[in-house]
Amino acid sequence: MMGAVLHTINIRLSPERMGHTIAHAEDKVILVSADFLPLLEQIRDSLGTVRRIVLLTDEPQTLQTSLRLDGEYEALLAGSVPLPDFPNFDENTRATTFYTTGTTGQPKGVFFSHRQIVLHTLAGVAALASNPVQGRFHREDVYMPITPMFHVHAWGIPYMATLLGVKQVYPGKYVPETLARLIHKEKVTFSHCVPTILHMLLTDPKCAGYDLSGWKVVVGGAALPRALCDTALDRGIDVFAGYGMSETCPILTLSHLSGAELTSDRETQTSLRTRTGKAMPMVRLRLIDEAGQTVPDDDRTPGALQVRAPWLTRSYLKDPEDKAGLWSEGWMNTGDAACRDSAGSLRITDRTKDVIKTGGEWISSLELEDIILRHPAAADAAVIARPDPRWGETPLALVVPRPEAVEPEREIVRHVKEFVTRGVLPKEAVLVRVRLVEAIPRTSVGKTDKLTLRAVYLDKDD
Ligand code: AMP
Repeated sequence: MMGAVLHTINIRLSPERMGHTIAHAEDKVILVSADFLPLLEQIRDSLGTVRRIVLLTDEPQTLQTSLRLDGEYEALLAGSVPLPDFPNFDENTRATTFYTTGTTGQPKGVFFSHRQIVLHTLAGVAALASNPVQGRFHREDVYMPITPMFHVHAWGIPYMATLLGVKQVYPGKYVPETLARLIHKEKVTFSHCVPTILHMLLTDPKCAGYDLSGWKVVVGGAALPRALCDTALDRGIDVFAGYGMSETCPILTLSHLSGAELTSDRETQTSLRTRTGKAMPMVRLRLIDEAGQTVPDDDRTPGALQVRAPWLTRSYLKDPEDKAGLWSEGWMNTGDAACRDSAGSLRITDRTKDVIKTGGEWISSLELEDIILRHPAAADAAVIARPDPRWGETPLALVVPRPEAVEPEREIVRHVKEFVTRGVLPKEAVLVRVRLVEAIPRTSVGKTDKLTLRAVYLDKDD
């Protein structure tokens, strides 16, 4: 509100890429926590545009650094004269920028105006606070984000929490036990995170003794797997999915359950909670086929998902001509494929680039991952498309086996075939190949890093 643009730096990028984002955004002032000074020292050559470095620390005396610091935040604040009033800006003035994390290539900058953030905040509160019971975010909640600020302003939810005036808890580093302890001690009732973080928290033995019942958690950034949803429900957690992108500020849909749906059996609930959900107010979504025609809302026919909303990034930073192809005729291309049912509830079936096309049939890598993860032999899994001279592509499942698993490759193939027999998966899914790996690489925000997986495993596969 002083006219500066806030760039929340993605500190999980490699130092070179992080330096690139600072130089590309032409950052002028850096506010840095003492923890990250060594990282900043490492990329000092990228700080050409930076005029001031302000330190954030509780112990200024003990600090040693070769960087020239311009002061400590609290001390500067104490010595400053508050602005009598905020300057008047056009509501379209840029407020924030940050870089997408490279699930699909080099980091790209997106940016949002004050107007866009305010509209996203209002619509988010309208959506989250108006559901009668399930996943409702209200004035008496205690809020703790478990999504970094650099990931779309922690999904814009801190703004909503501030609008509602709720108590907010900021956890620092995401250590599962610390999170569980904070939830317990501060009586946290509302959070959001990517599936990996929730999985960490629910499988860490040190967290097993904490009562997490009643905790409401929006899971987004990637599909909420059924197995994870079930584990969370078993612990009494009110878990549900949200969907969006860096480019969309981010929230587009939420998988809230109505009062009536909340009384349905466990299996139905899991199906509803793991869907991608319905559009927030002021969001229009459409699904189109290759000819640009909208596909039917039959929950079966996938189409490329496009979106309109008043808070989408106008372009990537410094790409006003849209060389990246983000927009088509006033619609933003999400790069995701989805189906929609007649009630308007969306189900992402794939990133367009991740769709596995086997003999002309689409196999959803997300669905296959979800099914593989339901087998007790699989601790973690990711599915990528493997070029195949006969079928075009076939699915390659990279699976981290559990230590106690017996013949996990054979068992998982058998498990997949069972789902084909039951008609859950298309018959082409029997062509899946399983390869055991030690770990699945993740991007800086905890998503499966399919770029790396493709680079590492595709040519070595034969
Ligand atoms: P990012 O910009 O890094 O947040 O990535 C956005 C992408 O994450 C989307 O385009 C989707 O492919 C994926 N994504 C986010 N939320 C979900 C969800 N609930 N289900 C499936 N995919 C999701």
